[in-house]
Amino acid sequence: MSDATESTGNSSEYGKSNPFPAPLLKKYNLNGVGSAKETIHAEISLEGSGLSYEAGDTLAVVPENAPDLIAAFLEATGLDGSQSVALDEETSIAFEEALRWKFDLRVVTKVVLTKYAKSGGLDELLEKCGDREWVKEYTWGRDWVDVVKDYPAPELDAQGYVEFLRPLAARLYSIASSIKAHPKEVHLTVGAVRYEAFGRSKKGVCSTYISDMWEVGDTAGVYFHHNKNFKLPEDGSLSIIMIGPGTGIAPFRAFVEERIATGASGKNWLFFGDQHEATDYLYQSEWEGYVASGNLEKVDVAFSRDQDEKVYVQDRMRENAAEIWRWIDAGGYFYVCGDASRMAKDVNQALIDIVGEHGGMDEAEAAAYVKQMQKEKRYGRDVY
Ligand SMILES: Cc1cc2nc3c(=O)[nH]c(=O)nc-3n(C[C@H](O)[C@H](O)[C@H](O)COP(=O)(O)OP(=O)(O)OC[C@H]3O[C@@H](n4cnc5c(N)ncnc54)[C@H](O)[C@@H]3O)c2cc1C
Repeated sequence: MSDATESTGNSSEYGKSNPFPAPLLKKYNLNGVGSAKETIHAEISLEGSGLSYEAGDTLAVVPENAPDLIAAFLEATGLDGSQSVALDEETSIAFEEALRWKFDLRVVTKVVLTKYAKSGGLDELLEKCGDREWVKEYTWGRDWVDVVKDYPAPELDAQGYVEFLRPLAARLYSIASSIKAHPKEVHLTVGAVRYEAFGRSKKGVCSTYISDMWEVGDTAGVYFHHNKNFKLPEDGSLSIIMIGPGTGIAPFRAFVEERIATGASGKNWLFFGDQHEATDYLYQSEWEGYVASGNLEKVDVAFSRDQDEKVYVQDRMRENAAEIWRWIDAGGYFYVCGDASRMAKDVNQALIDIVGEHGGMDEAEAAAYVKQMQKEKRYGRDVY
């Protein structure tokens, strides 16, 4: 979780320790046929929860493990899923139920791998666990089915696994709706994680729980996290610039809905990017409708694979450098959401370059100016 997020001070009985069982109202794939991506728009009911949120907050969703992963794990370990295991002094449930609700079978960490090696009496693995680089390389893309196949521990019983497997954690999603536009609802934009590795198809636990397993009418546990550093300006007359490629678009759907609902007069400028315009332009008709109605001043798009040369949102920013500076210099707010590993860094550098070039500052002054924007919460980052 980013350090900017914290549990909301909602007065509802529901929260992190008691997630609200929220029914799914609707879901559909935002990508078109032939896309390499699968991005689910999910609409979730808050009816009867007493919970609320602000644009810029995130929703935690408590997932379940997929039945095929549980079956593969039971087969790899040779253990009987119907046997009872004790979760604590008072609670015993079937091992397969525990695997479904309680434990993470996907993410292999150094700590848990070491515990496994110790519990299973696996000396060779235990020695390798002392080598951080080896662990990093080995665990990338592998899950617990891979581990028990590579390093079988026939002595370990079901209770033994319960003692060291990591608890199944909720995953966070940027909220894609304003509660003013959709009373008693919260919407998400979820990219399904799927990949092939080590001879098996792998699925991200929560993203594919939402896309494959959470059916309309069924409930999943949810709770909110408040992000105080990613908020719209209180003064609605100030303009905002939003950089949200891929699933990074989510909070900006919420922002624009909120600005319309509150009658904010400031201008809204969106930058979006993905692979192909024909299949990956998320919420395209909504943005085009907002441009037509005057609620969105501009949308600049970068579809990286529609031409030989790759173009990204930061390239579109540089093309619009003078105007971006004019908006910022006039007190405008700047936001980025999405991939932290590369995109957000490139966007940050583009912003520093724009401030430097058009604000007449050298690199260090421009970097300090951008840092100050962040301090003043005029530069919000929701990156992951
Ligand atoms: C503040 C915040 C906001 C977020 N907002 C959103 C949002 O709006 N929409 C959204 O979709 N996500 C969002 N996320 C990310 C989300 O929380 C989850 O991390 C994401 O859905 C993946 O979770 P999962 O349970 O599906 O995958 P997990 O089961 O957690 O698996 C993911 C892991 O799989 C591995 N992996 C993934 N791809 C590969 C590959 N190709 N090869 C090998 N290994 C691989 C990596 O180790 C990765 O860490 C946000 C995260 C944060 C912190």
